[in-house]
Amino acid sequence: MNIHEYQAKQLFRDYTIAVPQGIVADSPAQARLAAEQLPSSAWVVKAQIHAGARGKAGGVKVARSLDEVGAHAKAMLGTRLVTHQTDAAGLPVNAVWVEEASAIKNEFYLSLLIDRDSERLIFIASAAGGMDIEAVAAETPEKIVRVKVHPAAGLQAYHCRQIGAALQLGKEQQGQLQAIMSGMYHLFLAKDCSQIEINPLIETEDGHLVALDAKINFDDNALALHPDIAGLRDPSQEDAKEAEAKQFDLNYITLGGNIGCMVNGAGLAMATMDMVKLKGGAPANFLDVGGGTNKDKVKEAFKLILSDGTVKAVLVNIFGGIVKCDVIAAGILAAVEEMHLTIPVVVRLEGTNVQQGLDMLKNSGLGLVPAADLNQAAELAVTLAEVDAGSRPSSTLTPSMEGDRP
Ligand code: GDP
Ligand code: MN
Repeated sequence: MNIHEYQAKQLFRDYTIAVPQGIVADSPAQARLAAEQLPSSAWVVKAQIHAGARGKAGGVKVARSLDEVGAHAKAMLGTRLVTHQTDAAGLPVNAVWVEEASAIKNEFYLSLLIDRDSERLIFIASAAGGMDIEAVAAETPEKIVRVKVHPAAGLQAYHCRQIGAALQLGKEQQGQLQAIMSGMYHLFLAKDCSQIEINPLIETEDGHLVALDAKINFDDNALALHPDIAGLRDPSQEDAKEAEAKQFDLNYITLGGNIGCMVNGAGLAMATMDMVKLKGGAPANFLDVGGGTNKDKVKEAFKLILSDGTVKAVLVNIFGGIVKCDVIAAGILAAVEEMHLTIPVVVRLEGTNVQQGLDMLKNSGLGLVPAADLNQAAELAVTLAEVDAGSRPSSTLTPSMEGDRP
């Protein structure tokens, strides 16, 4: 789960990570009032969305008067901000963060995440801050320093000295860095984060290290332990379909293609998407309906897949291990019937009661397309998605209605 910069900065404050003074606002008048309460001659107005690269997209603006603060807030609030980290639709700006402007002497990059290879938390730092860290890593990897922390020993002063040396910090700033890294480390463990990123971490003209930006991701699987963090969730920033899927305990991720995939098990879902790609198609989504799925879940899954109208064919690939194939078939039939489906649905079933399941699909008269195996299923789905629905001869819809196992 992601949270907004203003929420992350509040957590930073609680964990000895220095941040500039700021106030969140959801109207231009409030933004103006916020600036009035922040003693400064310049302010920064920042669009609050769950994505970075706002600066380049016009979502971070410096203001030198209260009127300007109001004007920037007015221009941002109620719009959707598109950055190179969002999709083309962007994300809604429902709040702005008004902050006292900082005078920047140096910009650094500092983050803390999990290094799965070494099973350690790892600090990543760079003197090339404020920029896209992926670009720094690709073009000038020598500018990035990595420091791993042993879980039994915990964060030590030498870890901080290593980072400080790489950033060429002065003695005073070195002490400040230690407080910031210690805060990050404790926050990470206390709240089950998966990533904390400060980009940029700045040194101000008067020598203070301050987190100018704040990004925190949390481990979804640990959210039940942290109601305070779960309470920070902002559904307006989430993909509507992904949020709906969560309610039904479905693992759904929107992708760009036109073949809707309904699969049980994450591994099988990945394999199905690979197979679709291999056959020259593009999956519209990743969807894992879970090992122990049922009729209602299958129905909800169909609704999700079909809700945006870009899907031209559906590929159902179910292995009936925990759940029997006839139960799945009943779910598919119920969904297809209820939703008056007009696009082709290719079904590959395998496992317990497979013949029963296939017979049900065959006898339904709903024009479902059974496939003998995943290879054929992907091929059929890709072919049928390409055919214009109006000109499709009905015979291609039923290439192997016998439904016999190979
Ligand atoms: P992002 O673009 O979404 O990562 O938003 P950031 O919070 O990182 O802001 C983008 C850039 O705006 C920063 O890298 C800074 O260069 C600039 N910026 C943000 N706040 C201030 C500020 O208080 N003073 C100055 N001079 N620049 C700022
Ligand atoms: Mn940033």
